[in-house]
Amino acid sequence: MKKDELLLNRKSGWDTLNKKEMKTLDGYTNEYIDFLNECKTERECVKYVEKLAKKQGFKELDKCKTLKPGDKVYYINRDKNILLAVIGNEQLEKGINLIGSHIDSPRIDLKPNPLYESEGFALFKTHYYGGIKKYQWVTIPLEIRGVIIKTNGEKVEISIGKDKDDPIFVITDLLPHLARRQMEKKLSEGIEGEDLNILVGNIPSEDKEANEKVKYNILKILNEKYGITEADFISSELELVPNFEAKLVGFDKSMIAGYGQDDRVCSFASAKAIMDLTEIPNKTCVAMLMDKEEIGSMGNTGMCSNTLDFMLMEMAVKLKQESYNLLNKLYINTKMLSSDVDAAFDPTFAGVSDPKNSSFIGKGICLLKYTGARGKSGSSEACAEYVAYVRKIFEDNNVRYQSGELGKVDEGGGGTIAYIVADKGADVIDCGVPVLSMHSPYEVTSKHDCYMAYKGYKEFLKK
Ligand code: MN
Ligand code: MN
Repeated sequence: MKKDELLLNRKSGWDTLNKKEMKTLDGYTNEYIDFLNECKTERECVKYVEKLAKKQGFKELDKCKTLKPGDKVYYINRDKNILLAVIGNEQLEKGINLIGSHIDSPRIDLKPNPLYESEGFALFKTHYYGGIKKYQWVTIPLEIRGVIIKTNGEKVEISIGKDKDDPIFVITDLLPHLARRQMEKKLSEGIEGEDLNILVGNIPSEDKEANEKVKYNILKILNEKYGITEADFISSELELVPNFEAKLVGFDKSMIAGYGQDDRVCSFASAKAIMDLTEIPNKTCVAMLMDKEEIGSMGNTGMCSNTLDFMLMEMAVKLKQESYNLLNKLYINTKMLSSDVDAAFDPTFAGVSDPKNSSFIGKGICLLKYTGARGKSGSSEACAEYVAYVRKIFEDNNVRYQSGELGKVDEGGGGTIAYIVADKGADVIDCGVPVLSMHSPYEVTSKHDCYMAYKGYKEFLKK
């Protein structure tokens, strides 16, 4: 055995790609950047992926009366989850190859009664969603995207800030000259949750009877444009998201900066991977893009819901494969990649990571045997046998991978949707792209790793 083969390869992954693959990588990157710019909410992701899937021959599951191996179907749950499946040759009870990612990202939501006037300004009250460092969200351009549902059922879709001529929105911060007290506070308290107020207007209405003239003027503008009243905000889902365009980073253009890469980088890779399967797979393959991961995976669009079970049973009936104890047998034989991002090593903040066990940008897709906090608390640790199974797929197919962990022991921690499916009996390992500045308005990944995720997921599904 050569010395090289005896040692764990922890080199940069850029040398694994040949010329042809470099071209594929560039095409993939362009499409991914387009996806990031188009899709800044769960609903937008679902729409985008549905359109792409239809082009690739996927059909709505509800519209298929029967199914057979090779059929491609998708199921959409409440416009916030999309699950794509390719029916394999083997029976469902033998298990499926599953990839699970999430399409919700940290952001700032509007409160149900957001609009108010103060000292000649109209502002929106907000409630942040997911784990954010609040100080990162002030004085940056924000867009509003989402929906308002009127009581008559009409859905008003809102997207303001994306088009060149659109206005943007902003949260103010204190000037340094007057920030003496603020600067003495802890970083977590410098900007507080109730300080995240959005500037939305400053011109008073000419209406003599209106009390709050600036607020009234904004409501008039919204009513004229969207036909909504103040009460309609109560039944809305409006998200403030960064107005940053996704871009290549560095003189060598090796990295990608963009909002929402946790976890749209893995969502995009898994959706593309399942769509690009060219042959009928042995096992039925499912790629699911879930919601609510950032706030605990609860509710009827989160991973804790029965969305996947429902889809699997629908497929079983249409395949005439319903049988005694089917779901339990299926899950016990299922292999899953929980495709979520990992915290990459950052040389500027080296202290929080163990460099020997941290994942690095540019060194490939990352396998996390466990997540959790403190003594691995809350983690569904993958079995060594299963880790070896996934390693072999990657090594046999020239997929550059690395192992990682979520920071130093006792430094912090976190979780993904892995444990939810592992609880049902499946083998699950976290396997995703390393990210710098995770949960910030502008996260950074490596082009190489994004492409490796796509390549790795495809090989995993094919197995
Ligand atoms: Mn995530
Ligand atoms: Mn996250």
